[in-house]
Amino acid sequence: MYDVLVIGAGPAGVAASIYTKRANLNIAVFEGNVPGGQLVNYSEIENYPGVTSFSSIELATDMIEHMNKLEIEVKYERVTKLEDHGTHKTVVTDFGTYDTKAVIIATGNIPRRLGVENEEQLAYNGISWCAICDGPIYRDKDVIVVGGGNSAVEEGYYLSTFAKSVTVVQNLNRLTAEAKANEKLIAQPNVTVYYETLIEKFLKDDKGLTGVVVKDKEGKTFDIQADGVFEYVGMIPVTDFVKHLGITTNYGYITVNEKMETKIPGILSCGDVNDKQIRQVVTAVGDGAVAAQNALKYLESLN
Ligand SMILES: Cc1cc2nc3c(=O)[nH]c(=O)nc-3n(C[C@H](O)[C@H](O)[C@H](O)COP(=O)(O)OP(=O)(O)OC[C@H]3O[C@@H](n4cnc5c(N)ncnc54)[C@H](O)[C@@H]3O)c2cc1C
Repeated sequence: MYDVLVIGAGPAGVAASIYTKRANLNIAVFEGNVPGGQLVNYSEIENYPGVTSFSSIELATDMIEHMNKLEIEVKYERVTKLEDHGTHKTVVTDFGTYDTKAVIIATGNIPRRLGVENEEQLAYNGISWCAICDGPIYRDKDVIVVGGGNSAVEEGYYLSTFAKSVTVVQNLNRLTAEAKANEKLIAQPNVTVYYETLIEKFLKDDKGLTGVVVKDKEGKTFDIQADGVFEYVGMIPVTDFVKHLGITTNYGYITVNEKMETKIPGILSCGDVNDKQIRQVVTAVGDGAVAAQNALKYLESLN
């Protein structure tokens, strides 16, 4: 029986695992993809206090190294169900079941999809959700970025440093990223922004994506040719495996108090998966530390 099982090895889960391990608890972390979470999907972080600019991939690597140094057990298994049995919980994966006294959920978010024609067929074959992973394929090519928030603007700028052109298609009448990031993007000579414009469908031939059909605010539709499209239209929480526990909001986010406790004793949750205001690395690691501390308090209350 474990003391604490942490689900997800993004910034929140890594912080929770470091704090629980350093409290000498018997813990393990489940990771269904690669450690680092969303950090591996982009390039620079410029808003982490004390470091003006650093690579998010390097931060992910350093986090993994930190876990290795502390000899934290990482199980590369996707959790499919979390069961509550009162004083013990069971974590179910495709490979087995694991009993624990407490659980810290840190499964974060995944990108939302547009849900328009040809999107499924072109996913990962012309349409991407990760500029840092797939961007280099589009050196000297034409790309479209869908969205106008922080992710779209930052990744659009990154793409503009090597793509031939970047066309940003934004449904609102303005970009909604931080002002400095917006200015940096718009100043790029190879960037064009369409406001109040929606993606109607993706265009393809037998080799893959050729562009998109968009509709502007007057209702006029037209094509934009492109070699690749990057979608940044929001995120959705990864909580299917806890739906039956009744700890999520209507939007699927997990409801916690300021101690990161859900309404079920011994099940805590931290990071982007929570119903909260700001989803950033700095808040995710803070949540992870708070969750760890209160998991410890919960374990003490069992004795
Ligand atoms: C494009 C982009 C740019 C960003 N830029 C910045 C920035 O500049 N500054 C900043 O502070 N923040 C930025 N963020 C946000 C920041 O990365 C997130 O707030 C942070 O990663 C959240 O950490 P987390 O641990 O809560 O979740 P995540 O990073 O989402 O990690 C969750 C982890 O859980 C794993 N997991 C999910 N489900 C399961 C399961 N069932 N079983 C096992 N494992 C599972 C996932 O594989 C993942 O590794 C950006 C995000 C994106 C997408």
